[in-house]
Amino acid sequence: MSTEKFLEIRGLKKYFEAGRPSLFSRATNLVHAVDGVSLTLRRSEVLALVGESGCGKSTMALLLMGLEDPTEGTVIFEDRDITHLNDGQRKDLRKKIQMVFQDPYESLNPTQTIGEIVAEPLLVHGMADTPDRDERVKKALEDAGLKPADVYLGRYPHELSGGQRQRVVIAAALVLEPEIIIADEPVSMLDVSIRAEVINLLADLRIKRQIAVIFITHDLGSVGFFADRVAVMYLGRIVEIGTMLEVLESPQHPYTKALISVIPVPNPRLRHERTILQGETPNPIDVPSGCRFHPRCPVAVDACKASDPPFIPLTKTHQAACLLLVK
Ligand code: SF4
Repeated sequence: MSTEKFLEIRGLKKYFEAGRPSLFSRATNLVHAVDGVSLTLRRSEVLALVGESGCGKSTMALLLMGLEDPTEGTVIFEDRDITHLNDGQRKDLRKKIQMVFQDPYESLNPTQTIGEIVAEPLLVHGMADTPDRDERVKKALEDAGLKPADVYLGRYPHELSGGQRQRVVIAAALVLEPEIIIADEPVSMLDVSIRAEVINLLADLRIKRQIAVIFITHDLGSVGFFADRVAVMYLGRIVEIGTMLEVLESPQHPYTKALISVIPVPNPRLRHERTILQGETPNPIDVPSGCRFHPRCPVAVDACKASDPPFIPLTKTHQAACLLLVK
């Protein structure tokens, strides 16, 4: 993995309007979906973005794809500010940043053959007549683990298993030769037995094609030993970030600790006490004062209601935002 930062996100915010609090109010409610996220990504790095549903991780993906405009903040990609681009520039950018969605059943058109599905992005980007079109389609299929490609080109999605369909979705992302793949819960709809296969495939691609992967998941256990770094998100903010070993083996934020405590451990002797968080993630319209995790935090103290914790550097690569870490 290169040490070069090629994607840099600075203070990214996305607030959505959600109607007025009452008939008599002029003010508008705002959903704080993403609320000041700063991150970097290096070439061919795998960054896992982890958090419960509604924490803002999927909105982050839409912002990076240019499918939503940020309310505030900056996104720099390969030294270029891509925060606000016009439609043509966005379309160009999508050749370099591709997304793999959660549901391989819904993302494939049942009336198209696998060959047509994988070639479609070339069509959309005006590259249908590119001389190496067929080669690119076959290479994408084979790099996605569907070998030999000729066997799959004429088949239809219903003839494939769930895992093979997700490989087709990945092949359709690869055909444009992207530099980043944003995979939004790519294995959550798949049978447990084939999840590891798809995760291993993404891990291979970063080596074979030098692709960076942002792996979005609610399941910290699925990050396994595949991610280089892990960023834990809660209610629109990153609360802890570090290398995979730092976060999984030495978590410092109480939210990360709670997520890790519920990862199933097969060996009963290694099992530890589970921390079940009380209550749901708070409404992102009405973000709690001070530390936004305080209503659910098992170790909160009075000061947590008033002070918004800063990021505390723990090592060169590990940071967490909790008042208890302030020395
Ligand atoms: Fe918990 Fe307080 Fe730390 Fe927030 S600042 S995570 S409420 S202890």
